[in-house]
Amino acid sequence: MYCSKCGVRNGDENKVCYHCGAPMPGAGMAEEGEVPRRNEYGAPRREREYAEPREVRDEADTLAGIAACCIPLVGIVLYLVWRDKYPRKAKSVCGWTIGGLVITGIFWVIAILAGLASAGESF
Ligand SMILES: [Zn+2]
Repeated sequence: MYCSKCGVRNGDENKVCYHCGAPMPGAGMAEEGEVPRRNEYGAPRREREYAEPREVRDEADTLAGIAACCIPLVGIVLYLVWRDKYPRKAKSVCGWTIGGLVITGIFWVIAILAGLASAGESF
């Protein structure tokens, strides 16, 4: 590349002429060329920012799970609401609801057996 001011040959990477110090015509082009590169590096970051909150939102909700465990109706409603939008949440709530129903069932069986036992003793 030749200097447009003094005509001395410079390397292509030179931004200013080593002989007279005039800015080389290639320097401006090189700066313009760097702009798309920055955009290329910036694009994946934006995709990550959008992707991360989605994954965080659709996680097992322990608080909702405990609520579903105590009140199975809440679990059934939450499961139906979350089934389409948050499959992971819905699945966890479904598990908690079944767990709650099983525990409630065990308590009922114990209560009935205890009731029968006490009834048997009284007769
Ligand atoms: Zn020059």
